[in-house]
Amino acid sequence: MSIFGWSYPAGCSNFPGEEGVINCEMCGGDVDNDECVCHECEECGEYGNPDCYENHGLVESTKQVEQRERLLREIDEQSRLEVEAIVKEREEVWHD
Ligand SMILES: [Zn+2]
Ligand SMILES: [Zn+2]
Repeated sequence: MSIFGWSYPAGCSNFPGEEGVINCEMCGGDVDNDECVCHECEECGEYGNPDCYENHGLVESTKQVEQRERLLREIDEQSRLEVEAIVKEREEVWHD
């Protein structure tokens, strides 16, 4: 369960144009590229698990929130452009 409520274009299960990239659920950072800025949970040793913030007493850092908001803005813009491109493509087909 994502706490962000990110909205993807239909049929798109990951970030547009970034197939296979795993982004941390808490900070939005690319886990494979060490962009996750989350702290380790002392209870279970996990990073970036939203459950730890609800159940294990972890508190979000400013860094996490800032990174997440910045990435969300980028993703919003990417999704918007992608949706616009799809809409435009369909319009061109209809006008054919
Ligand atoms: Zn993280
Ligand atoms: Zn935990």
